[in-house]
Amino acid sequence: MLKENQKKLQKVIKSLKSKGVQNIIDGKELASSSKEVFENHSPVDGSFISKVAKGNSKDIDKAARSSAKAFESWKNLDHKSRRNVLYNIAEEIEKNADEIAVSESFDTGQPIRFTKKAAIRGAANFRYFADKCIDAANGLSTPDTHHLNFTMRQPIGPVGVITPWNAPFMLSTWKIAPALAAGCTVVHKPAEFSPVTANILSRAAHKAGLPSGVWNTVHGFGESAGKALTEHDNIKAIAFVGETTTGSHIMRQGATTLKRVHFELGGKNPVIVFDDADLDRALDAVIFMKYSLNGERCTSSSRLILHDKVYTKFLNKLKKRVANIKVGNPLDPKTEVGPLIHPSHQEKVLSYAALAKEEGAKVLVGGTAPKGKLSKGCYVNPTLVEGVTPKMRLGQEEVFGPFLSVMRFKTEKQAIKIANSVRYGLTAYIWTNDTSKAHRVARDVEAGMVWINSQNVRHLPTPFGGVKYSGIGRDGGEYSFDFYMETKNICVAYGTHPIPKLGA
Ligand code: NAD
Repeated sequence: MLKENQKKLQKVIKSLKSKGVQNIIDGKELASSSKEVFENHSPVDGSFISKVAKGNSKDIDKAARSSAKAFESWKNLDHKSRRNVLYNIAEEIEKNADEIAVSESFDTGQPIRFTKKAAIRGAANFRYFADKCIDAANGLSTPDTHHLNFTMRQPIGPVGVITPWNAPFMLSTWKIAPALAAGCTVVHKPAEFSPVTANILSRAAHKAGLPSGVWNTVHGFGESAGKALTEHDNIKAIAFVGETTTGSHIMRQGATTLKRVHFELGGKNPVIVFDDADLDRALDAVIFMKYSLNGERCTSSSRLILHDKVYTKFLNKLKKRVANIKVGNPLDPKTEVGPLIHPSHQEKVLSYAALAKEEGAKVLVGGTAPKGKLSKGCYVNPTLVEGVTPKMRLGQEEVFGPFLSVMRFKTEKQAIKIANSVRYGLTAYIWTNDTSKAHRVARDVEAGMVWINSQNVRHLPTPFGGVKYSGIGRDGGEYSFDFYMETKNICVAYGTHPIPKLGA
């Protein structure tokens, strides 16, 4: 299976090496206006993948103008035609499932056991929003005695979508599908560390019949291409997924043009395991929610808050399982944890293992880079640290790797206090068989999304987003339309109301 995947990858690499990764503006693959490129390397072994167009403000301007022009017809397209295009995109994505999986694994280091589902999930996002095209413009009717008020939703205009490197394909579909369903046009700026699948996706959309200019892709760095996108006057809103500090920059950059923003930012999510929980299921979920997707997952539970009574027993089992996680080539279906995105990120994650020792916590498992044949890649052995407290940097900062910090509690109040002791508030996971307690903790924990007795299982109509420094706004289902659309109120008189007569 590894060999088969490597074979598939060779085909992709060959074409990437000859063509490079270009911008896609107005349906055409173009070099950057400056002809500048940057190099993209694989985290698997540091090997060169391709040259990538280094987009700049001129390229963004061209893409934004193209989106503004295309908006005039796309927003007026009847919902059936729009729905059909979105359905076709879903089909095209599925046709490219193998290429997407191997490219995403080699470009990001994410194990193929997860990336092989990327196309299925991406297609599901498009199908879900295709079915919602018919309702996108719906509003409310609010009649008064003399007037009928009703609202309708209209697309806000061309929007900018800026995505991170951790799950680039899936996150791009998640943002772009609702924008298109709403009638918006899009300029997408993919992350510079993982540019490859953005073009597979855009090409699939154009092949599926999406008109030119409705979806433009400009590659490049955040400080240049990304910044220009957030500052462009034609762009009415920015959907951003990435780091909290980048979110602050974007807010400042977009202030002059009054950008509407939707931010999905960092997290330091708690998983609270009470002594009365189903501990076997909790153990599986704790491990999955930290070590899947290399731990480079915004919703991962990076702080295990463990009840005193079950602490030792649970931790012993956890240690064994973490030490047994299979680290390896992400193209190997047996691999559970692959290399991290970039040498700089590998270094950052490893630095937290050193910090654990400095801060008085104890590294129980991992904290090192594997030796031998994996040493060329950006690998970090799955890491487990105990004795972490909220006062430590380790208890506060997002590590964004296969790195779990364990904390101990005795009372429900203490558990909630620890859970809320960070500036983030994206997700929380609660394990208990006491229904009332589960509800109390879910109510009091500061998070945008809470799962009780479950790992993160995403249901597309539900609101997705965080509180505090984890984000602004929600997407998913109808919530996406609140962001990508304006609500207009129309007031119609029945002809019975008095009109004040000035100067009569
Ligand atoms: P990042 O903020 O460094 O980069 C994200 C994107 O922003 C990239 O495309 C980058 O080029 C661009 N960018 C950087 N500076 C910019 C600027 N000044 N103006 C405009 N664009 C700019 O994030 P990352 O390192 O790629 O991703 C990891 C982070 O993403 C983690 O913090 C993680 O928690 C977060 N994340 C959050 C969610 C969520 O749903 N909350 C999901 C996935 C990832």
